This record gives sequence, C-alpha cells and structure tokens, in this order.
Amino acid sequence: MKAAVVNDFTQNLSIKDVPRPKPGFGEVLVKVETSGLCHTDIHAAHGDWPVKPGLPLIPGHEGVGIVTELGAGVDVVALGDRVAMPWLGTACGVCEFCIDGWETLCEKQVNTGYGRDGAYAEYATADAAYVAKVPEGVDPLDAAPLACAGVTTYKAVKVSGARPGQLVAIFGIGGLGHLALQYAKISGATVVAVDVVDEKLQLAKELGADYVVNAMVEDPIAAIKALGGAHAAISVAVAPKAFEQAFGSLRRGGTLVFVALPADNFVQLPIFETVLNGITVIGSIVGTRKDLAEVYAIHAQGRTTVIRETRSLDEVNDCFEEVEKGTVKARIVFDLR
Ligand code: NAD
Ligand code: ZN
Ligand code: ZN
Repeated sequence: MKAAVVNDFTQNLSIKDVPRPKPGFGEVLVKVETSGLCHTDIHAAHGDWPVKPGLPLIPGHEGVGIVTELGAGVDVVALGDRVAMPWLGTACGVCEFCIDGWETLCEKQVNTGYGRDGAYAEYATADAAYVAKVPEGVDPLDAAPLACAGVTTYKAVKVSGARPGQLVAIFGIGGLGHLALQYAKISGATVVAVDVVDEKLQLAKELGADYVVNAMVEDPIAAIKALGGAHAAISVAVAPKAFEQAFGSLRRGGTLVFVALPADNFVQLPIFETVLNGITVIGSIVGTRKDLAEVYAIHAQGRTTVIRETRSLDEVNDCFEEVEKGTVKARIVFDLR
C-alpha cells in the first residue's frame, strides 16, 4: 500500500510502498477514504514534543474509511462500516481514569499516528473498541477533521464551562479554532476570535464569531477587556504568546484552557493575578469516545460546518509548509479514494 512515512525528524516525509498491515486480535483493517492533516502530525514529524514517537512512523489521526477485514474477536464493528480512527487509538479500559469517564488520561493509551501507525496510508489497522462509527449522511471529508479538530474543541468548550450570557475568546482560528468557535456559539456564548491572519478572521465572521481581533494589528488583551473580559479563553494557537494573551484577556473568575501544543513548551503566567483574580487554568486533551459520538450527532443535525480543502497524499510535504505558513483556510484533508 501507499503511505507517507516519517523516517527522520529533520527530513521530509517519503511517499512509498509499504506492506499492508494485518489486523490483530480485537482489531479491524480500514481502507482509508479520507485523512485530515492536524498540526499535531507536523509536531510528530519534527519530533517537537518532550515525548517523541518511534520511527519510522506513518502519521495521521483523522482517518476515516471502510472496515474491510475483522481481526479475531471483533463483534462491535462489521465489515462495510464507515469508521473514524481518532488520536485515542486504544486505552486499558480498567484503570481509574478509564472507568471514570477520563479514558483520555489512561496511562496505557496508545495514540494513532504517534504510538502506532496512522492514516496517512491507503490502509490502517485500529482497535475496534476505539474507532468511532461515522453516521449515515456525514461526508467522509467532514468526518475526518471532526475526529480530532472537532472532538478536541468540543471537549475544550465543555471544560471551559461556556454558557449563555458569557464571553468566550478563541485564540487561533485554524483547523481546531474554526470548530472551537462554532461549539462556543452552540453553548450560547458570545464569541471573540483572535488570529494573526486576516483571512482566518474573515472566516471566523462567516462562521458566526461576534467579534474578531487581529493580534498583529491590535492588542487582544485591551480589545477583549474593553468588552468586559472573557469568562473563558481557549488557546488553540501554536504560539506561547497567544496563551499569555489569552490569560490577560480573562475577567475575574475566568478560565484559561490550554489546547495547542507548540514546540516552545513554556509560558509565563503571573502568580499574583492568578490568585487575586481567582483564575482557573485547565489542560485539555482530545475527547472521549462519547464526546466524539456527540460531535458526529451534532454535525449530522447540520449544526456545524467543516471548512476543508482536499489534496492528494503525494502533496503532504507541501501541505505541511502551507499549514505552518498559515495559508490554509482551515483544514487540509487527503482524499485517498
Ligand atoms: P493550525 O495551524 O490549523 O491553526 C493554528 C492557528 O493559530 C492558525 O490559524 C494560526 O494563524 C494561528 N496563530 C498562530 N500564531 C498565533 C498567535 N500568536 N495568535 C493568534 N493566533 C495565532 O493548527 P491546528 O491543527 O488547529 O492545531 C493547533 C494546535 O493544537 C497544535 O499545536 C496541535 O498540535 C494542537 N492539538 C492539540 C490537541 C489536544 O488534544 N490538546 C488536539 C489536536 C491538536
Ligand atoms: Zn489532532
Ligand atoms: Zn486506562
């Protein structure tokens, strides 16, 4: 099968023929139809994070496709089902986190396209218990970004506590951010979108943002404080500075949600203001299988819009550059059909 492979953190991915994987016990083989490009795949390919993936690696954790083979013991998915293979590739199912609705914190989890090969390929294997069924009528080109960008921001908005009457600021209107702002609107909040690229802010307006701020032109802290300050600020921008500005934009009692994972791992937050203003800081990692099922149900109801452009997997290296330059409208999806 054809796959895009990371062999070295300092080199481009190579497009090559590799053996088609075989589904093990409890696993399925999926013929990939669509595969989204999450910024995490770029971090994986560059070895940006403190915990690095083993190489060679096939990235991709926004894969959607059809189940074409069942490994032994699989009865929760059937041949012909359309499924998504999310970042949470597998978890232990029995630890305190798994049984308490926090499977995304399981210490034995294995991540798709990071700890095991992912969906930048014509086929991928996956744990049948952790794939998501894509509802009838959801376009596979939409289902792919929803499998990570969707579920991650849906969860981030949930933990932010956003509700009607509140002001929510979204920092970074990329693949994640363009969905974050829609979930914040669905929660009933008034939404401020912040980015450094005018085209992203134009898109944010089209998707329902009430206010937009270009952080290159205007100080987002002053702009959001002028609106009364944010009850919650969610940082999905790949820049520590945006986290600090998100902190600064909060009103008293506000909540800052960390979602993006820039290579530059540290931010500076003031202790005094955090304490005196009663600020909450939350780290939020993807979402559970239940969250993802909710994301698909909401999309099937026509309540979210996925902005994506379709490419061939052969263009993966150019696509990485475009995402890093910020010239992609929101999400790139590889079409392998
Ligand atoms: P993306 O490149 O599509 O979007 C990033 C956006 O941030 C772009 O629109 C860019 O213009 C904007 N931006 C850059 N600098 C900015 C600044 N200083 N202020 C405001 N905006 C700025 O990336 P993505 O795919 O949406 O991923 C975003 C980040 O989230 C990545 O680091 C990724 O690894 C991480 N991520 C985290 C989780 C999680 O579970 N926590 C899940 C998926 C992705
Ligand atoms: Zn992702
Ligand atoms: Zn567990």
